[in-house]
Amino acid sequence: MIGLTVLGSTGSIGISTLDVVARHPDKYQVIALTANSDVEGLLKQCREFLPRYAVMADPDSAQLLAQRVRAARLEIEVLSGVDGLAYVAALDEVAYVMAAIVGAAGLLPTLAAARTGKRILLANKEALVVAGELFMQEVAIGGAEILPIDSEHNAVFQCMPANFSQGLERVGVSQILLTASGGPFRKLTLDQLEGVTPAQACAHPNWDMGRKISVDSATMMNKGLEVIEACWLFNTASDRIKVVLHPQSVIHSMVAYDDGSVLAQLGNPDMRTPIAHALAWPERIVSGVGPLDLFEVGRLDFEEPDFNRFACLRLAYEAIEAGGTSPAILNAANEVAVASFLDERIAFTEIPIVIESVLTALPGIHTGDLDTLLEVDTEARRCAEQMIRIKV
Ligand code: NAD
Ligand code: MG
Repeated sequence: MIGLTVLGSTGSIGISTLDVVARHPDKYQVIALTANSDVEGLLKQCREFLPRYAVMADPDSAQLLAQRVRAARLEIEVLSGVDGLAYVAALDEVAYVMAAIVGAAGLLPTLAAARTGKRILLANKEALVVAGELFMQEVAIGGAEILPIDSEHNAVFQCMPANFSQGLERVGVSQILLTASGGPFRKLTLDQLEGVTPAQACAHPNWDMGRKISVDSATMMNKGLEVIEACWLFNTASDRIKVVLHPQSVIHSMVAYDDGSVLAQLGNPDMRTPIAHALAWPERIVSGVGPLDLFEVGRLDFEEPDFNRFACLRLAYEAIEAGGTSPAILNAANEVAVASFLDERIAFTEIPIVIESVLTALPGIHTGDLDTLLEVDTEARRCAEQMIRIKV
């Protein structure tokens, strides 16, 4: 039995992970489940999976959960805070850690998994965006293994030669082609974009996801964060990564080789496929996802993205090219801007304006130091909040 911790188990990826795990009770044992403040959601999962630990990042929610767990006579230790999250990511009896917390909040627990040599099933792309260099170093030192969960990166991983870590030039890979659906607003004019609501932004045409990543998909910041994620995961510069709009979301990404071959991974848009792949790799297990019906799909379309229309994508490329703390600043400003949009404090079209003004106000510096990165993250959030207050 493989011991598993699911960080962010009550979210969209967490729920899909437990769906796959429940199909293989002989293979995986859930040791710890975690959430931010959803007491009822975590309690329900605790009843079903009987983990040894349940962690709530929010201390008041942890107290409430502990009462509920006692009342239900469940033998589960309830922990709280970021220390509790890091503790269950590093337990000896845990071999695999699903990193599915949203945002930079996932960084410290995911680093704890890296330092203790776990197989990390990495959904939390923001951790790599904020601290890519440091994170990859800790993975190497700790002897950890990263299996990408982001559908694009999982697809790229499946299409890569096994020795890709030697460097893409050396293994004959000319380009990574990251596909993007273009989100729900691909066809809207810039004028129409101004008035879109959070509910419209969260209604993705192909994928059912958490609210933050849904807005990121609509602005295409999600693809920008994924370009940065791919640079770290596949040890390459951003000029080798091309974003391809593919509205059907059937090809999840591609790898182009020097000999002219292009390998693609296809499937129904359901995160249980990359989750099952990463859980079982190098083997294959059933995931609950049905077979792809190519006759129903009918056709596959491709378009070039417009960097003027999707300013967030441009900003992400600029941030990774600038390097240092620029991606951390980009990410923090984006998290604040997206939360403000979801609270209806700023318009959809103001998201990239806030991010760009924070990137202009705070020059990036070169550092691989965790405390400095965390300070930069805090400072960028404060700066973004200030920009939003001035505007409103
Ligand atoms: P979600 O909002 O549905 O779930 C987030 C989870 O994190 C929840 O369990 C929540 O309780 C927990 N959480 C939130 N804030 C926290 C905090 N401060 N401390 C501790 N825990 C906290 O998000 P999601 O859609 O499942 O996405 C999770 C991650 O996976 C994101 O980084 C996202 O970019 C990535 N991802 C998601 C999808 C998808 O299809 N949903 C696809 C690719 C990548
Ligand atoms: Mg993705």
